[in-house]
Amino acid sequence: MNVLVATSLTQGWRDNDFCWTVEDELVVFSPLDCEGGSIDDGCGCRRSMAGVASHRATTTIKVAHREQLDPNTYFTLICEGLRDQGYVTRELMTNRDVNAWLHGLTDDLMHLAAGFGVGTVLERRGDIVMVRRPLGAEAR
Ligand SMILES: [Zn+2]
Repeated sequence: MNVLVATSLTQGWRDNDFCWTVEDELVVFSPLDCEGGSIDDGCGCRRSMAGVASHRATTTIKVAHREQLDPNTYFTLICEGLRDQGYVTRELMTNRDVNAWLHGLTDDLMHLAAGFGVGTVLERRGDIVMVRRPLGAEAR
């Protein structure tokens, strides 16, 4: 299956890029964004995704193929990452609404990853994730 992972590829294409994650670790949408923050603000939560293992953020994301991974294991990895970061507890994860939210998040990530070719570098711009192109390329 395809998954979204952290990458340092294309870092610097935007002057407010950052990549504090570990290369190739799984990434998720952070459950919390700043209220009223803009995409290019000093915080960066609306243009980044969070590493499941490192608990750090990156503005550059890559589509990777994981031969051994299946959706159930992927779901577990996402849940454990969010639990380790303190967003959910084991008890909360059994709550029907929280569990539905976790499945929704995982499904969204799988859909996104399935929609792009392996190796494609993506970026998040607020509520959308898109293929990353060099700045200025769209003007040419
Ligand atoms: Zn923020």
